[in-house]
Amino acid sequence: MSDLKSQIPTASVDDLYAESGHWHVNTGEETIHAKRMPGKWRRYKWWASLVWLVFFFGPYLRWDGRQAVLFDIPERQFHLFGVTILPQDFWMLSLLLLFFAILLAVVTAVAGRVWCGFFCFQTVWTDVYTLIEEKLEGPPPKRRKLEQAPWDAAKARTKLAKHSLWLLIALFTGISFVAWFNDAYRLWGELLTFDLGMVALVFIALFTGGTYLLAGFMREQVCLWLCPYARIQGVMIDKTTVVPTYDLNRGEPRGRIKKGEPEDRRSTGDCIDCNQCVAVCPTGVDIRQGQQEGCITCALCIDACDSVMEKVGRPLGLIRYESLEGLESGSCVPVARRPRVWVYTLILLASLSGIVWGLSTLGSIDLKVIHSRQPLFVLQSDGSIQNKYTLKVLNKTPADLPVRITASGPEGLVLVGDEVLVTEHGGLVARDVFVRVPQAKLDRESQPISFVVTGQDSQGQVYRGERTSVFIAPPSVVRN
Ligand code: SF4
Ligand code: SF4
Repeated sequence: MSDLKSQIPTASVDDLYAESGHWHVNTGEETIHAKRMPGKWRRYKWWASLVWLVFFFGPYLRWDGRQAVLFDIPERQFHLFGVTILPQDFWMLSLLLLFFAILLAVVTAVAGRVWCGFFCFQTVWTDVYTLIEEKLEGPPPKRRKLEQAPWDAAKARTKLAKHSLWLLIALFTGISFVAWFNDAYRLWGELLTFDLGMVALVFIALFTGGTYLLAGFMREQVCLWLCPYARIQGVMIDKTTVVPTYDLNRGEPRGRIKKGEPEDRRSTGDCIDCNQCVAVCPTGVDIRQGQQEGCITCALCIDACDSVMEKVGRPLGLIRYESLEGLESGSCVPVARRPRVWVYTLILLASLSGIVWGLSTLGSIDLKVIHSRQPLFVLQSDGSIQNKYTLKVLNKTPADLPVRITASGPEGLVLVGDEVLVTEHGGLVARDVFVRVPQAKLDRESQPISFVVTGQDSQGQVYRGERTSVFIAPPSVVRN
């Protein structure tokens, strides 16, 4: 009988046990100093965090000579890669919000709080802040010791360096946030020449203070007590949701490795009760107690436990991505057979179709035509029939634009009124026009008529808007 225990590097396991006394489950009364361990999920987490680089560098991207994405609140316009969305098109933003809300719901239903563990602002910034803390103050036991140590010059220097770096990151976060609502280069110019407006200053200060407070001090308490998503995510997950799960069938009864006990005759499960999964948990949760509200599904406990299993020569995956149903029955309901996922996906597709349709029909000039109802038509002294229309031209281009109005429809049609209009950038102009058609050319009471507005900017770019309406003739004229 081989003694597998002899293959286990007991010194490193003893180190784990020596360390395990420090770790306990978070009840919120003290700062969590989570241990950092390398691993597959830690790598994925860093890659996912890179999404936030878009937040920092996005405002500096240019498109057609203007900020690629700009939420221009004073002008009530939203610029998105050359497309301008005005207040009347904001229904698309509602659809966009619906899209992201449902995307969050579908991801939560399938794989739990993936957003929290890998992408959330709070998680990512806290991760960066605690990385700085670790670099300056050392691993968790040293940090705890430093917290309790009396103040001296060395402690003051370390704390000053840490808080300065935290504040610098918070300041860049605040400036980046405000840059999405202002021209980013102009914002920096005004900032460096101390010429920044009060509103921008207040928002930079609010976001700097908020980031410093939330990521530096409140950390996981935000996930546990403040975040509304944490409260509602429980209704989106069920027994089939795949989340980091401790395999209690394999792990229990947990027990420490006893010196000299042969591995193949041990009376305990695979869990060696080293507490490493609790040590690395950024919210201080003990995953072995089952799924909990505090778990943000960052999967760092999977990395920790896998590294322990590797050390003691037991199979990996004691903690793994698994559903409760999968754990109990050994098989899991495929995603395609879950009605909840289908319902979420259908809403997701509907909102996405609406956004795509909206963007594809969004012109640079929007033309609306209202046919006058009082009167519907007028018989002119020259024998022609006249209809009145109100044209509303909305200029979504980046500059003021003169536009020419033309109309086509029944033969012999004549457009009466101003043919050229000057439209202001982002503005709406209304103009009444009259259309006359000789009676002899009218063979129906109602005929389609098409209005077109065209304009050309100083760079030669041509813009066009078109709308169809009807030309109404009296029945007596048509009968004759
Ligand atoms: S689950 Fe894994 S990491 Fe956690 S105590 Fe058990 S062996 Fe250690
Ligand atoms: S229990 Fe595991 S997955 Fe959940 S938050 Fe803690 S480390 Fe992350």
